[in-house]
Amino acid sequence: MAHRAEAESVLCVDIGGTSTKAGLVNSTGELSGLQSIPTGGPNPERFGNELSALIERVHQAACAQETACIGLGVAVAGFLNPERTTMIYNSNLPWLENYPLRDYLAKHFPMRVEIEVDSNAACMAEYCFGSGRGSDRFLCIAAGTGLGVGMAIKGVPLRFAYECLGDIGHVILERNGPLCTCGGRGCAEILVSAPALAQQYRERTRAVPNVSLRDVISAAENSDEIAISVLSNAGEWLGLAAASMANIFFPDRIAIAGGLSAAGDLILKPAKGSFQSSASLFAQARASLCRAELGPMATLAGAAWPFLAHRPIS
Ligand SMILES: [Zn+2]
Repeated sequence: MAHRAEAESVLCVDIGGTSTKAGLVNSTGELSGLQSIPTGGPNPERFGNELSALIERVHQAACAQETACIGLGVAVAGFLNPERTTMIYNSNLPWLENYPLRDYLAKHFPMRVEIEVDSNAACMAEYCFGSGRGSDRFLCIAAGTGLGVGMAIKGVPLRFAYECLGDIGHVILERNGPLCTCGGRGCAEILVSAPALAQQYRERTRAVPNVSLRDVISAAENSDEIAISVLSNAGEWLGLAAASMANIFFPDRIAIAGGLSAAGDLILKPAKGSFQSSASLFAQARASLCRAELGPMATLAGAAWPFLAHRPIS
């Protein structure tokens, strides 16, 4: 009698600055069973409990569908220690720094647990399943709550220090620019992050304080000129940041991912314009700038990559 083949997936988690998502990701990058909770501080133990309850709900749903979980992949915003067991620095999540994330989860879930920097995860998801397929030197800029940048060299994340590509989202674009959460001034992140764009829109329109990036994007899609201008400026800054990165890393492809990429051409067109007018001729002749394909779920899907890396990618 033939046995029914059991489906395999990776339990995946994305701990972002604002929300934490969990779901199942299969070997082709398909996501199912998505659930989320706020990334609530300041007590890391309480968040740990909420996180394991969230993962348990997704795990239970997987078991009910006879899906085998081959591991637990966790993408977290911030720098990691060399053993990749804990996040050691994120100016947006100071309360979670040095919390023993991997050990805590390994105790609760009897399976292999892999922690990855969120920008590496987003980059690897795009490399495996999206806009980075076939690229030898793929740079992925994820612009959302923060500005995370990852690079895959022939399918392997480039790790300079603290398991990531430095703090390249904080490349400085404006001398004496606004004070950034990192302590620097005029960084790309403080100029184009989702909270920064929402604030720029609020200041120029005197809109209600709780306007979000999504509101700015939908206003721009409805021809709101101030919203269009805020996004266009952000696109120009992003193109400038991409140009600086291209001059250092010589990527053959650069993808814009994260919440800002939902603005489509409203961001991408000005980004391409400033990239072409700013990057060295050598670098820009060898790199193309495109929109990421996987949307805001790339980081979550990328949390699966350590488990899929040695498997065939379709
Ligand atoms: Zn900064």
